[in-house]
Amino acid sequence: MAKSAEAALAAQTVGQAVIPLVNSLQDIIARLDGEDAAGLELPQVAAIGGQSSGKSSVLEALVGRDFLPRGPDICTRRPLVLQLVRHSAAEEWGEFLHAPGRRFHDFEQIKREIQLETDKEAGDNKGVSEKQIHLKIFSPNVLDITLVDLPGITRVPVGDQPSDIESRIRTMIMQYIKHPSCIILAVSPANADLANSDALQLARLADPDGSRTIGVITKLDIMDRGTDARNFLLGNVIPLKLGYVGVVNRSQEDINFNRSVKDALAFEEKFFSTLPAYQGLSHCCGVPQLAKKLNMILLKHITKMLPGLKARINTQLVAVAKEHAAYGDTVESTEIDPCKSITDEDICTAIQNSGGPKGAMFLPEVPFEILVRKQIVRLLDPSLQCAQFIYDELIKISHGCLTSELQKFPTLKRRMTEVVSNFLREMVFDQRRQ
Ligand code: GDP
Ligand code: MG
Repeated sequence: MAKSAEAALAAQTVGQAVIPLVNSLQDIIARLDGEDAAGLELPQVAAIGGQSSGKSSVLEALVGRDFLPRGPDICTRRPLVLQLVRHSAAEEWGEFLHAPGRRFHDFEQIKREIQLETDKEAGDNKGVSEKQIHLKIFSPNVLDITLVDLPGITRVPVGDQPSDIESRIRTMIMQYIKHPSCIILAVSPANADLANSDALQLARLADPDGSRTIGVITKLDIMDRGTDARNFLLGNVIPLKLGYVGVVNRSQEDINFNRSVKDALAFEEKFFSTLPAYQGLSHCCGVPQLAKKLNMILLKHITKMLPGLKARINTQLVAVAKEHAAYGDTVESTEIDPCKSITDEDICTAIQNSGGPKGAMFLPEVPFEILVRKQIVRLLDPSLQCAQFIYDELIKISHGCLTSELQKFPTLKRRMTEVVSNFLREMVFDQRRQ
């Protein structure tokens, strides 16, 4: 597995490389029973950082679709829980928890709906709310994973924001990233002071040993001329266990001109390959590298879960084998064919008789009972015959039980034979009467 998985890790969107692996594991889990047979739970991925740092842009690039409202005036003001749901049909659509059953096939419309919902709860004057927006994206090309786009950290209250907006947003972000299974994408724009990054500061609080934080540095293309983020990407400024990835997302102009995600990726690749400052840093530059890092973490997570899964399968295997052995060897016998003398026509007639000319949506029970009763009657004769055999056998055994000493007491012997025979006969007749 290791080699092919390694090769597949180069896939560009999040989870793509592990989709076949996770799917076959989930198939196995679905066949196990017991209450802990829930699916293979994958960690949530949350993007955190200052306002306009590029969180939504990074998540979109990872999913490979353009559907999140972005821009200087349209920032994320409610947590967006984006659940990717894999399905087998070719169709792709989005569905909101607040509008169940309504399928959004147009991703532009999804963007508008997110904005409308944000305004509904958080007002249209920069207000922020902790009430989530739940969006599910159904697609054949995704992994069942949840991404969370969070409101950005702000300092100065604007519009309808309360005076304690900063601490409120920090608390809200912590709610998500404190979970040990949450992978944190700490997003910092390269055109601001990286050493003061709010994202890294918060991530360190939630994940002190840095085992689940990936540093993402955006906007490398618009840094002050003459500066670059090389030292930062190498971890020389603030070391991070899982390291940093530098990315170039679409600029506002690109968005205004509807530049596609694909074009943006091509631009990013050219950017990193031509700028001397980033030579030799290909392992930590570009959205595909970020996806690769995430895939690697997902793979590690799955590997960690495998021994437990194997143990569960083994335990069930032993239990089933034990149960199987308890039934003993198979007994060969000529049993009665349960369907003999019932034709398909008989079944149709019985169903029609009970359902009337209109028929019924579900198969009614009554014709089944009528047909089964008819078949059970067929068991009567062989059963009575069987009872007779048993009776004869028991009489024979009872004779054998009379010891030779009883020959001396002929009356007692006769009485005993009588009592036993009467008892057995009564049992047979009782059974016949029933
Ligand atoms: P968020 O508030 O953190 O979700 O940030 P957005 O993803 O909405 O991005 C804010 C603005 O920055 C948008 O206008 C983006 O087009 C722009 N932006 C984000 N990343 C980059 C980048 O890498 N380069 C450039 N030039 N612009 C970017
Ligand atoms: Mg955003």
